[in-house]
Amino acid sequence: MPQNPYILKSLFDANKAWVDNVTDTDSAYFERLAKQQSPEYLWIGCSDSRVPANQITGLAPGEVFVHRNIANVVVHSDLNVLSVIQFAIEFIKVKHIMVVGHYGCSGVKASMDHQRLGLSDNWIRHVRDVGQKHAKYLDSLPSEHERHDKLCELNVIEQVVHVCQTSSVQEAWDRNQPLTVHGWAYGLKDGIARDLGISVTNPREMRSRYQAVIEKRYTVAD
Ligand code: ZN
Repeated sequence: MPQNPYILKSLFDANKAWVDNVTDTDSAYFERLAKQQSPEYLWIGCSDSRVPANQITGLAPGEVFVHRNIANVVVHSDLNVLSVIQFAIEFIKVKHIMVVGHYGCSGVKASMDHQRLGLSDNWIRHVRDVGQKHAKYLDSLPSEHERHDKLCELNVIEQVVHVCQTSSVQEAWDRNQPLTVHGWAYGLKDGIARDLGISVTNPREMRSRYQAVIEKRYTVAD
């Protein structure tokens, strides 16, 4: 008996059903999509399987360029994310970059615990640095749960600043290319994406927006 050529058959079956479904209503769909992509958005999110960019935003294939890693971290020495940002800005000419964190992020949780995970400890170290930067505020919160939620938000806000500081974003702004960087937090429990109030459209805004949001929401009252 010949072996089925497809390993993971259920996934290939689902793929075929999806193709049939799409082409039933629009026979030229894939032909058109294959010719070009011109998404307006670059999504930088967490690798978590529960946070899929397209479904959350209702965007179809071709409408959002996506980069994901553990805990949606943007590091200035990470050639991968820097290349995605540069390509998205210079060639795709996206108009918006959103850094999307999510509540309940295990990468963020791992940064709060002192458990050793292995190689990924080095990556998560970046989130731990965010926690240390905002330790006074986070330590003032009454529960572990709230500290976790707020560190998820603060991690997004710090990564928004990192995106703004990249040479690709700075150069885009220098040549007046329209580009806004946003920070969102997504709720696993309700499916809602929330804007964290740190949308930046030019280099002059970056520091003031950051300071305003930190002072308003993440500062201990004396
Ligand atoms: Zn996560």
